[in-house]
Amino acid sequence: MQLEQQNTLPDGLLDAKPEELHKILPNPTLLHLPGARERPLFISVLQHGNEPTGFLALQALLQKYQSHNLPRSISIFFGNTLAASQSQRHLTNQPDFNRIWPGTELPPTPESHIAQEIVAIMKQKQTFASIDIHNNTGLNPHYACVNKLDNCFLQLASFFSRLIVYFTRPKGVQSDAFAKFCPAVTLECGKPGQKYGVEHAFDFLDTILHLEELSNNPVNLKNIDLFHTVARVKIKDNIDFSFQNQASLMLNTDLEWMNFTEIPAGTTLGKIKQQTPLPLTAINEHGEDVSTDFFSINNLELQINRQTMPSMLTLDEQVIRQDCLCYLMERIQP
Ligand SMILES: [Zn+2]
Repeated sequence: MQLEQQNTLPDGLLDAKPEELHKILPNPTLLHLPGARERPLFISVLQHGNEPTGFLALQALLQKYQSHNLPRSISIFFGNTLAASQSQRHLTNQPDFNRIWPGTELPPTPESHIAQEIVAIMKQKQTFASIDIHNNTGLNPHYACVNKLDNCFLQLASFFSRLIVYFTRPKGVQSDAFAKFCPAVTLECGKPGQKYGVEHAFDFLDTILHLEELSNNPVNLKNIDLFHTVARVKIKDNIDFSFQNQASLMLNTDLEWMNFTEIPAGTTLGKIKQQTPLPLTAINEHGEDVSTDFFSINNLELQINRQTMPSMLTLDEQVIRQDCLCYLMERIQP
């Protein structure tokens, strides 16, 4: 597997469906297109093959500038096109592409070497800003994530949403690797297949493309809601779970309504069949197990221990298994 770099728009790219992109770009590809301002905007799409919104927004952007100059150069990374051909987050024999970037805790792979190469190239090009575009599967509002609380990061994020999430785990995400040398955000554009998500991402890209610079002034805290992730929750590998059927852990079907809502202590997430240790683990930003700080079992009910705000809760069992059950967050007070 080798990184390909191209400097012209590949034939058919503007009309390709995400599932067809692999035919045009079979290898991991970095596409550099020149614009009026030299320092490029880096855009990464389809790191997760079943999250097409970023690619669709990018196609709209490239269509807009087909007949006139881009206001700024752009460099585009087309992530996991093979997984996209099967509408999968990643294939079973592949790593999660958004866990392979410098800073990763995973062992080296051909994919992580490519990520390193991309970082080196983009660092040398003095990247203006980095935007990584995602979807999620649960009911979540649109929000932007940052891995650094610097003013220019928050300024960049606030162009997308007043809702901003600061996180430092998981490691090996693209935005964190780029945060070392330029302002970087991850956009969460709601569920795939929503036209509004594509329009929102397109508007954001076009806005950032026109900026001469990103302000380093403090963001007015009245204009943003800033949260930080305090734990990532995973169901233990040896626990079978379900929303419908009998299982060791039976999760409530209304879970995703709790996303971005502050839920009180005592809220029940599901039931367990028999008295066992906690069926899930909550790991904080330092990699410490904080499961019992947040969860307990009462009368075979899995409950939250203290007020918290979940995000990314989903009813998609495969996503829960491949990624996580949810993140827990707390508000960062001004
Ligand atoms: Zn994603």
